[in-house]
Amino acid sequence: MSELVIHQIPALNDNYIYLAHEPATKATAVVDPSVAAPVLAALAEKGWKLTHILNTHHHNDHTGGNLELKAATGAIIVGPLADRERIPGIDVALAEGQKYSVGEASAAVFDVPGHTRGHIAFWFEGSRALFCGDTLFLMGCGRMFEGTAPQMWNSLSKLRALPPETRVYCGHEYTQANARFALTVEPDNKALIERARAIDQARAAGRSTVPGLLGDELATNPFLRADRPELQQAAGMAGADPVAVFAEIRHRKDVF
Ligand code: ZN
Ligand code: FE
Repeated sequence: MSELVIHQIPALNDNYIYLAHEPATKATAVVDPSVAAPVLAALAEKGWKLTHILNTHHHNDHTGGNLELKAATGAIIVGPLADRERIPGIDVALAEGQKYSVGEASAAVFDVPGHTRGHIAFWFEGSRALFCGDTLFLMGCGRMFEGTAPQMWNSLSKLRALPPETRVYCGHEYTQANARFALTVEPDNKALIERARAIDQARAAGRSTVPGLLGDELATNPFLRADRPELQQAAGMAGADPVAVFAEIRHRKDVF
């Protein structure tokens, strides 16, 4: 088991691309390359050779760099089986329950539909690293463009069950706006109030807020808390079905 060295590349307005380098074999994956140029520049600077392109879902701000990177490096393109026809240049299609290795670092694959029909997450247990694309954001979750509330709640429930020390590498820097919304749902959540303050400080200093710890999400992310009595109470839905609570919070966020 080998621990990944992860390098974060800000791209476009608020996207994150990740390089995941496995030192034992020198295999290097890029996760969700919206664009190729900053990835090639980071690879050159690190002296890493790209071997894998991992896509969580088909959106162009996660796959736009696929073909150029493949042409430049010969890397293998990996993506969700449920959406294989929409992943540019795909070589390997994965689904729930499969394992996929970058060098000696092995990832468990989860199907996490809801944001898109086919969306997967990569869980590198040996590195405590979760690449979850646009399913889970820090203090938020993705919009349900192609899925339903029961699907999205089920997807988030899978990710929520991972160890609390898991580092969440999500697709976008949306944390500050998410915190502002979360506070409207749970204005008295102390952990949330504190975290929102820390996020404001980080952003004011120009720092990234990603990755976050899953344990912090459990305490502050309203979309992971739809079955918690204290959230249901705060949302005016005490005792309701968690899916209904999730759907209501998602709707409030959509119109926030
Ligand atoms: Zn997306
Ligand atoms: Fe995105």
